Amino acid sequence: MSDIIQLLPDHVANQIAAGEVVQRPASVVKELMENAIDADATTIKLIIKEAGKTLVQVIDDGKGMSVTDARLCFERHATSKIKSADDLFKLNTKGFRGEALASIAAIAHVELKTRQEKDEVGTEIRIEGSEISSQEVCVTPKGTSISVKNLFYNIPARRNFLKSNTVELRHILDEFHRVAMAHPNIRFEMFHNGNEVFNLPGSNYRQRIVNIFGGKTNEKLVPVDEETDLVTISGFVGKPEFAKKSRGEQFFFVNDRFIKSAYLNHAVNSAFEGLLKEKTHPSYFLYLKVDPKCIDINIHPTKTEIKFDDEHSLYAMLRSTIKHSLGQFNVAPVLDFDRDSSMDTPYEYKNKSAFTPTIEVDRTFNPFKEESSSIRSDRSLSNTNFGKGETFSKQRKDTTGSWENLYVGLESSMQEISKQRELDEEEEEETFSSIQFESTEVTGSLFDEKDTSTLEKKDTYQLQRKYIITTIKSGMIILNQHRAHERVLYEEMLKNITMANAVSQQLLFPLMLSFSVQEMVILKSVKEQLENTGFVFGAFKDEEIEIMGIPTVITESEVSVLLEQLLSDLENEVPEKGFSQTDILARSMAKSVAVKTGVLLDQMQQQHLVNSLFACTEPTITPDNKPTFITLTVDEIDKKF
Ligand code: ADP
Ligand code: MG
Repeated sequence: MSDIIQLLPDHVANQIAAGEVVQRPASVVKELMENAIDADATTIKLIIKEAGKTLVQVIDDGKGMSVTDARLCFERHATSKIKSADDLFKLNTKGFRGEALASIAAIAHVELKTRQEKDEVGTEIRIEGSEISSQEVCVTPKGTSISVKNLFYNIPARRNFLKSNTVELRHILDEFHRVAMAHPNIRFEMFHNGNEVFNLPGSNYRQRIVNIFGGKTNEKLVPVDEETDLVTISGFVGKPEFAKKSRGEQFFFVNDRFIKSAYLNHAVNSAFEGLLKEKTHPSYFLYLKVDPKCIDINIHPTKTEIKFDDEHSLYAMLRSTIKHSLGQFNVAPVLDFDRDSSMDTPYEYKNKSAFTPTIEVDRTFNPFKEESSSIRSDRSLSNTNFGKGETFSKQRKDTTGSWENLYVGLESSMQEISKQRELDEEEEEETFSSIQFESTEVTGSLFDEKDTSTLEKKDTYQLQRKYIITTIKSGMIILNQHRAHERVLYEEMLKNITMANAVSQQLLFPLMLSFSVQEMVILKSVKEQLENTGFVFGAFKDEEIEIMGIPTVITESEVSVLLEQLLSDLENEVPEKGFSQTDILARSMAKSVAVKTGVLLDQMQQQHLVNSLFACTEPTITPDNKPTFITLTVDEIDKKF
């Protein structure tokens, strides 16, 4: 057989390499910003359009490039940063592979303008699909400006794979933060669609963190400092009481490079042991300096994972340094590490005063009276929201009385659903005994009190404050109250957002809520949809939002929890599923507002929930595809006897 192996043309090889280096606009941001830092820039400006899909531009005032270098920089393996393999073990630069610009130029329209200080004029080069289309002399300030337009223009599959602008912007912000936090002495500016998002003056680590994460961060930081032969550790950890439910603010930098390390993360968490509330994560901003000889950065193309020679010692050192800092700043209750920590009062209870048990006797209690007074035990179902759920009552009138018919013939699909349900390990499947009744979680009102006359009178029964049981022709159905309500609210929210017909309740005094700059960017992007659900906003300031009106299904005290949940859902959008922003919003709000397990519902509320559920277009499942109820036919029951 004749020879079949051939060398790939450069532009194909570059496209393949690009697949590794450039996953999304944020990768371009990272590479260009790192190049600017390597060029000793003191000011770096990042300009983004449409979450980087149409433009990523980085302008620096660094050392610039000569005419020849300006051409050469787009060649593969063209780098000024290493000369031999030995140099890999004494790296002081971010880049060294010489791949980034070649990769980017293979999959985008790129414009480069650059000038060295000693030159009078600069060079301008345009390149697309690895082909240089023009090279000219130009007038340009000292430094380099690189614009990357229409990323993946020649790889439609990759372009279509990009996520919503919110998600892509979120990735860009992550990269921007990481680079900016590692280099507080450099000035960074960022613009998105013409608006300034960040303007961070050169400063120190603490100030940089505060400038990025908001003024309130300052009081939350505990300094960490330790110097040993192996490593210098500096930076900050967040005080335990400010630990968050999401893992947002956790940063390791090794020799000014952001890295991810599950192992070191574990070391930090173990230093916080016993200090955190359940399911919360500490913030940390830790800067490690090690001899470049002792690490290998070369193991990952995007260089976010590195290998340490002596990981075990590093682990131990990090852990004890943080423990020491927490102790020194009087944050930790236990300073004496050898003591048996099981003897200590759990941290969550430290600030709660002890109470004396009392016995209350209800003298009016009459065991023969019908049980209709249960409402009083529940906060959210007796709040002032009652009577405002207009859409609920409309839906109900349309459909009550006939929902049972929906079920004839549905048994088999129900069985499938119930099988799926067994597999489901969601937290709401917890047993009743572990539910916290004094929970401060958001719980929406279920029910329109005025309009009870149209309710179908159907026998319902609440089991374990979790399930609602009712009968149908062929047997019985068991609803999960939280999930059922989630479905009802989801459909209502979705309708409100798309048709903009929600009713809102005006607040007597506007609410001021503060957020980080990054959270503000996300909230701004969903402002209109939020308004459609019933929010009325006043001023959107740098780190504060004024709220003048809220949706009728929530109360004022629930607003901040709801928005926090929403932000974390928007930030953690499940990428594979590609849900639209509207959908995420509706799902998130429905989830946090829906009545929780553990809430006692009276007869009318139970019936109302059943009726509203079956007025939905898709009553059988929650927005994230979990069954809302199961059926049990008489046949099935018979078989059990
Ligand atoms: P690497 O950073 O790994 O060397 P790149 O493809 O990112 O590879 O860049 C190639 C070369 O182009 C760099 O080594 C550097 O000499 C030059 N270069 C890139 N960006 C800049 C910049 N902003 N200022 C000056 N020189 C730059
Ligand atoms: Mg580079």
